[in-house]
Amino acid sequence: MGIKVLLIGLDGATFSVLDPMVARGVMPFLGRFLAEGVRANLRTIVPPLTPPAWTSLATGRSPGHHGVFDFFRMDSPESRHIRFSSSRDISVPTIWDAATAAGMRVTALNYCLTFPAPKVSGFVVPGWVPWRQLRLACHPAGLFDRLKALPGFEPRELAMDVKLEERATEGCANAEEYAPWIEFHTRRERHWFDVFRHLTETAPSELTAVVFDGVDKLQHLCWRFVAAEPGTEWEHEWERRAHELCLEYFRHLDGILERTCSIAGSEAAVVIASDHGFGPTRQVFHVNAWLEKHGYLAWSTEQLAKQDEGSALLGVGQVARHTFLMDWDRTRAFATTPTSNGIFIARAKGDGSGVPEAEYHAFRQRLVRELLAEKDPATGDSLVIRIDTREEAFPGPFSSLAPDLTLSLADGGLVSILPSDRLVSPRPAVAGSHRPLGVFLAKGPGLRRGADAGELSILDVAPTILHGLGLPVPEDLEGRVPVEMFEAEALKRKPVRAGAPSGSVEAPASSPAGPAPGFGADEEEAVMKRLQELGYVE
Ligand SMILES: [Zn+2]
Repeated sequence: MGIKVLLIGLDGATFSVLDPMVARGVMPFLGRFLAEGVRANLRTIVPPLTPPAWTSLATGRSPGHHGVFDFFRMDSPESRHIRFSSSRDISVPTIWDAATAAGMRVTALNYCLTFPAPKVSGFVVPGWVPWRQLRLACHPAGLFDRLKALPGFEPRELAMDVKLEERATEGCANAEEYAPWIEFHTRRERHWFDVFRHLTETAPSELTAVVFDGVDKLQHLCWRFVAAEPGTEWEHEWERRAHELCLEYFRHLDGILERTCSIAGSEAAVVIASDHGFGPTRQVFHVNAWLEKHGYLAWSTEQLAKQDEGSALLGVGQVARHTFLMDWDRTRAFATTPTSNGIFIARAKGDGSGVPEAEYHAFRQRLVRELLAEKDPATGDSLVIRIDTREEAFPGPFSSLAPDLTLSLADGGLVSILPSDRLVSPRPAVAGSHRPLGVFLAKGPGLRRGADAGELSILDVAPTILHGLGLPVPEDLEGRVPVEMFEAEALKRKPVRAGAPSGSVEAPASSPAGPAPGFGADEEEAVMKRLQELGYVE
């Protein structure tokens, strides 16, 4: 038995970068793939953020149903404590679960929130895991030692390493040090390819999936080098070199995609998808400063003074500290994490603080009105272009854990949650930030050639993969199989089958319940370093 469905995740891929790469001959394989397959823009969930987006892709459910909203998670709606999200927060079955339940093998490599690993029949090497935990994180037990025996296997480059991530962050502050950072990501994709090849040659899985995430990382830090038009005049030699190395990364990625598809074979259905798109960001909106200016948030002078004395916090504490800096007697609305563009409203607790239940909707509407009316002091343009309420963006059983409001900024970037004298600051240089439209490409038996399916939802990917595996599509999935992608003959031979609702996971074998896995201080630091490197955490 070989691979039936190959799912290649390209974190953060966008056609605004890939199409020009194809046009200028950097990605010839992708060009052929597009000519022989189907393409579509892939609309992601709100917010366009890696952990909830990959979770929606792998479950066909929106965050209010699967329970993941952010890199971080509060234990309860009232909690001021924040921890990292993990696979245990995913409360509905994934495609890994569905394939396993149908008796198929699964290989899942480098997917966000697959730690602790689902207990599939097959292999899991989770993404976003510090390298010291990789042995523990790999499934099945003993897999890490097998991988270690591979020539060139380098766990520090494959997974996350505090030292490497730290060097990367510092390096890119010095202009000339972009080069090693870009080259590091080129090597990293090669490491993941080597793991994919070894496992597929050893024991292929019907559902095989691998994420290459250098696209996201390069675009965050090197957007202007990645998206530069041909013929751009660079002021400095190191800029020209950074641009060349970015092209080299995409050329190398194209080769890896070609070899990955070739190993999967011509009988496999291949889906290439991203979790969100990308675009430039030029400024930072200080959302807590805005709330403070409008009288909705107050900082605790006592806590700020302590902060100045230098209580350096590492790990999640770096993010959580902002909530401890607030004066909760006088704060009615606040942003707790820099990653989700979410505003929470403090509910009344009977001590005079917070917003009483009866006033909640009017209060929330006032915030929406005032935020949408706020203009950039420099240009007079709107700062916030869209605001989703919790009910709009996150219907479902986990709605109460979601932010009350989720902002989409005109600039496309993420908010800052730090105290600030200014509402808006320019970024030192143009950076990259997530956008709602990612990519979907598919090729294989029965799929139309050279077709453009317009726009699909990220929620359509899980149904499409289940159909590709020959499995029924549970009727509670929120997406659909885009039948317009298939030849009519193929659909007659293999019609889309509806299945019983998959429900929530009380206790399927692959999703252990219980508290989130404890990252030690080192592991938390590694994750925070990466978030810092990508510009999420200040
Ligand atoms: Zn992402």
